[in-house]
Amino acid sequence: MEDATMLQTVKSVLDRAMSEIKLRDDMRLLLATPEREILVTVPVVMDDGSVKTFPGYRVQHSSALGPYKGGIRYSPGVDLEEVRALAALMTLKCAVAGLPYGGAKGGICCEPRKMSDRELESMTKQYARMLETVIGPQIDIPAPDVNTNDRVMSWIMNERLHTGALWARASVTGKPVVLGGSLGRREATGRGLYTLAIELLRKTGREIKDTTVAVQGFGNVGAWAAYFLHAAGARVVAVSNSKGGWFRDDGLDIPPLVVGVARTSAPLDDLDSVGARRISNEELIALPVDILIPAAMEGQITSRNAGGVKARMVLEGANGPTTYQADHILEGRGVTVVPDILASAGGVVVSYFEWVQNMMGLQWQFDEVIEKLDSTMIRSLNQVWDLAGRKACSLRLAAYMLAIEKVADATSRRLALPV
Ligand code: GLU
Repeated sequence: MEDATMLQTVKSVLDRAMSEIKLRDDMRLLLATPEREILVTVPVVMDDGSVKTFPGYRVQHSSALGPYKGGIRYSPGVDLEEVRALAALMTLKCAVAGLPYGGAKGGICCEPRKMSDRELESMTKQYARMLETVIGPQIDIPAPDVNTNDRVMSWIMNERLHTGALWARASVTGKPVVLGGSLGRREATGRGLYTLAIELLRKTGREIKDTTVAVQGFGNVGAWAAYFLHAAGARVVAVSNSKGGWFRDDGLDIPPLVVGVARTSAPLDDLDSVGARRISNEELIALPVDILIPAAMEGQITSRNAGGVKARMVLEGANGPTTYQADHILEGRGVTVVPDILASAGGVVVSYFEWVQNMMGLQWQFDEVIEKLDSTMIRSLNQVWDLAGRKACSLRLAAYMLAIEKVADATSRRLALPV
């Protein structure tokens, strides 16, 4: 049987969690359906003078807990179904982290690596213009996601400044620090993964220096997770990108690789000289490590390879890296899976701090941001951990239950339903 898509996976877990907390049927339908979906066709004059049109999306899943929040991705795989799943995950992620936000996601179906900077800028500004009235600091606040970054966010901010939108700076997060971005935002998701890893090791009585790690996906999330874990004494034995990866039993020297990430999108050129050997992404997933961090794209751990996962803990740095079937297999084998809506929340947590700073005209120090991020991550983990213990269920189901309880509570109070 085929593995479930990301949307089917999210819906199936939502269903299980809603049954578990005995949510009323009418509320179930309400929470499973996006509030608003925007489809746009983005025209771009390409460098050769031709006009290309790109399908763009913004799905605003829930505003029960606050303004919609979530990233924008540029990738050939973007379609309405993918964006729907990611928007629902954002609602759950913000709720688990205790942020005053709902959830949304946007995307444009394009091949950013084949586009020039000017074409990307033009596409981004056109997309921002088309979403002008449905974005804003109290409406919907975009941020970076796959193949978008602080530069793309500054183009969106600039477009909003030009059109005279109020609070243009606070209407997008993940901006460059010089334009009102927060210190610590760049490394936030990776830092959050690290903080959870340390806390989970503490809970299970293990030491970071005796821990081995494999990271699939060496973009902004995976690279920073590897960086912090390596700095704390873990042995990061494997890293990979879409083209494959490198393995070194004694551990890889991570800091020089992270410098590469900041400069280019293909940093893992050649590690032969440092005694590393090439491995495929499939081999990486099956490595006998303590912690496996899938930080690339969705649907990486499937029913085909889940049986071969030897890690004791899977920390989901990507959104939706494990299919529904694979999740079941991992659970049956006693692997601790820290779900995406908890594990990868660091980015949106610091996005929230950025928005707060913008609204208040403040610039917090790096250490202050990191301290607040760490305590938010640990508090969220503890809540999920305790609930999973009480219900004797997986961390994923517990995280979903916790989030749904909050969203359902807010929704029913706003609709004046009996609580
Ligand atoms: N794209 C990131 C995520 O999936 C960050 C979202 C945000 O900061 O709003 O969590």
